[in-house]
Amino acid sequence: MLNKVIIGNQKMNLTASQTRKFINAFVPMVEHLNCDIAICVPYTNLAVCKRALKDTNVAFGAQNVSEFEKGAYTGEINSEMLADIGCKLTLVGHSERRKYFSEHNSEINSKIKQNLKYNITSVLCIGESKRERTAGQTRNVICKQLDECLSGLYENELENIVVAYEPIWAIGTGQTATGKQIEEAVNIIREEIARLYTDKASKNIVVLYGGSVKPDNVKNFINIKNLNGFLVGGVSLDAKAFSELIQIYVGKPVKK
Ligand code: PEP
Repeated sequence: MLNKVIIGNQKMNLTASQTRKFINAFVPMVEHLNCDIAICVPYTNLAVCKRALKDTNVAFGAQNVSEFEKGAYTGEINSEMLADIGCKLTLVGHSERRKYFSEHNSEINSKIKQNLKYNITSVLCIGESKRERTAGQTRNVICKQLDECLSGLYENELENIVVAYEPIWAIGTGQTATGKQIEEAVNIIREEIARLYTDKASKNIVVLYGGSVKPDNVKNFINIKNLNGFLVGGVSLDAKAFSELIQIYVGKPVKK
C-alpha cells in the first residue's frame, strides 16, 4: 500500500444503479491522484463495482464477511465469494456491526482468518465509546480489541490488515476526535502492535482514522504523525464531496 489511503464506507445506502452513477461521477475526479482509494459497498453492488471500476485506480470491497468457510449458513457471504468477484478488502468489526449484530472480537478474528485464506485485506475497525473514554479506558479497550481480533495471526499476515481507529462517539455524529486524541490512539495502536509483534510490524501496519471526516475538517488531520489515511462514512456517498476530501488530503487544488 502507498502511504496515503482513503476508504469509503457507504453503509446500507445506495442501490446498484445509484452506485453506478456514483462511480461514473467519482472516478474522473480522483483518477491520477496519488492515493490508494477504495469504496466498501453493500453486497448487491459488488457486481456493478467489478464492471464500473475495472481499469480504474479505485478498488472496491465489502462491509462485512462471514466468519465461516462455507456451507449451511443461510444469508451469509464468505471470503471466497468476495475474492471471486474481485473484492480486495472488507471492513470487519465496524462498531455498527458490534452494536446492532452483537459482533464480538473472537468472531471478528475468525472473519480475518477467513479473509487471509483468500488474500483479502481486512480493515479492522476498533475504538472506544464515550463512556469508556470518560472512564479513562481508551488504551485498555483498543489493546483488548487488537489482542483478541489479531489472535493467532503471524507477523507476515499483518500485510493484509489495516487498522481503522474509529471512536464510536465520532461516527456519524459530526463530532470528530481532536488531532491530539487521534495521535494518542495511533500511538497506542502502534505500541500494542510492537508489543504483540515487532517494531518493524508496528512501523509498517497501515492505520487510519474514521469519524465524521469531511472536506472542511480533513486539513486538521493531515499532519498527524504515523497516520496513513481515513475511513470515511457519510461523505463517501457524495462523489463531489468525497473527491474534494481526497484532493485536499493529497494536497491537490480542488477541482470544482
Ligand atoms: C464510518 O462509519 O466508518 C464512519 C467513519 O462514518 P462517518 O464518516 O459518517 O462518521
